[in-house]
Amino acid sequence: MRPLRTFVWILPSLLIIACATSPRGRKQLVLLPAGQMNSMGAQAFDDLKRQTPIERDPATNAYVQCVAKPLTEQVTSISPRDGWEIVVFKDETANAFALPGGKIGVHTGLMTVARTPAQLAAVIGHEIGHVIAQHGNERVSETAVAQLGLAGVGLAMNEKNENYNLIMGALGLGAQFGLLLPHSRTQESEADLIGLDLMAKAGFDPSEAVTLWQNMSGAGGGQPPEFLSTHPSHGTRIASLRKAVPNATPIYEAAPAKPRCSR
Ligand SMILES: [Zn+2]
Repeated sequence: MRPLRTFVWILPSLLIIACATSPRGRKQLVLLPAGQMNSMGAQAFDDLKRQTPIERDPATNAYVQCVAKPLTEQVTSISPRDGWEIVVFKDETANAFALPGGKIGVHTGLMTVARTPAQLAAVIGHEIGHVIAQHGNERVSETAVAQLGLAGVGLAMNEKNENYNLIMGALGLGAQFGLLLPHSRTQESEADLIGLDLMAKAGFDPSEAVTLWQNMSGAGGGQPPEFLSTHPSHGTRIASLRKAVPNATPIYEAAPAKPRCSR
């Protein structure tokens, strides 16, 4: 390893791609090429699909896809290369997750807390928010710099599987891959607000996002889901969503279609 040479090699790349801006105008440290993040996301998703039982019930799948489709259709600015893929996993925990490239997992247990189509839309919209704001890339970038230094970022960029566990941990798959890195408060709030906007545009009543989080805080117990395991307390989260609902409501009322999804 020649650190200096690696640094000199990597510096131009850093200068070119380090300065990204999220959909809500926030400056981000985003070091890895989007194409590489997307293929890592696809690989991790394939691994999960092999390791985790998939829900095959047609009615449940039709319901989740009915809610997800109008949401992904709102995303026109950043279209993942491989397209969106939403898979329902047989898992009792009230959880959902997103991977770069538009791969979204919904646990069957989520439906006990997200009790209406609009509440499910709030969760899926939140996960889409993580994808389009490149939160996976941001976390991998920050983790790689913090733990491995710039040379480590070079490794992550050049050898797809060299830092697999680190990357999977940074993508929020710590339980499966051995290293847990929670989403930051900033990313969670950003995903909440992007999700609220998406659900309103897709024709789901945004006020139901508030109800969802009230259901979540009432559920308690067990391992905290991805979107609960982070710093913002339920109260903070509910308060900031409640503040944003009045702006989202006219968008919902003007939405050309109101999806009718039933289980
Ligand atoms: Zn989240």
